[in-house]
Amino acid sequence: MQARDDGTIRVENHGDGLWRIEELFAHPYCRGAIWVIDGAERRLVLDAGWGLVPLDQAVPELFDRPVVALASHTHFDHVGGLHRFAERLVHPLEASILADPTPEAVQSLPFLHGYDALAFDPVSGGFDADSWRLPPMPATATVEEGDRLELGGRTLTVLHTPGHSPGHVCLFEEATGFLFAADAIYAGEMFDTIPGASIPDLLATHQRLLELPVSRVFPGHFEVFDGRRLRKLIEAYRREKSA
Ligand SMILES: [Zn+2]
Ligand SMILES: [Zn+2]
Repeated sequence: MQARDDGTIRVENHGDGLWRIEELFAHPYCRGAIWVIDGAERRLVLDAGWGLVPLDQAVPELFDRPVVALASHTHFDHVGGLHRFAERLVHPLEASILADPTPEAVQSLPFLHGYDALAFDPVSGGFDADSWRLPPMPATATVEEGDRLELGGRTLTVLHTPGHSPGHVCLFEEATGFLFAADAIYAGEMFDTIPGASIPDLLATHQRLLELPVSRVFPGHFEVFDGRRLRKLIEAYRREKSA
């Protein structure tokens, strides 16, 4: 992998075999981070962005190694590019969405009617949410709570973390304390009233995350932070919801 920024796609090296790919054409609150986690034997890609610029064109070396893609959940800004991967994992509760990713199922509609989500259209300049369709991209396998993904010299444990969506998963690496949190927690406004979201479930998910020995959080949006900030963000969310 090569770090770079061409104004449309940014590839950042986060050390420890971790890379973040970002689609700069989307505004940060709906710019799902694409996390690349390298093991000795294979590479795991957590989420796949909007996919307006095909990842195999934008970051061809991403596919130079055996690679498996995992959808943390199935919102459009996390699975738009998932069909580019031959091996696709998701939690069973959202598997039917990947098989038939209608705009309503991946929530591009009606969401994109109310939000100005793109800074620019990287392809034609005329992105139209109403006609945007994702191809069927059925999961090749599913992952559940407690599953361990072996990448060769590094192991990630799947946590079922509903709240933002029913089948949302996080990944935790016990050896390092790294939490790949996706949309369970990040340093920004949580989307907890959209279809499929549940505030009580999200509060319970946060309690679980608090009980993990987290050193660093690699979220689905916005910046990376440490375990202390994780506790502060969770406490702030709790206060907001109990007010
Ligand atoms: Zn998201
Ligand atoms: Zn989401």
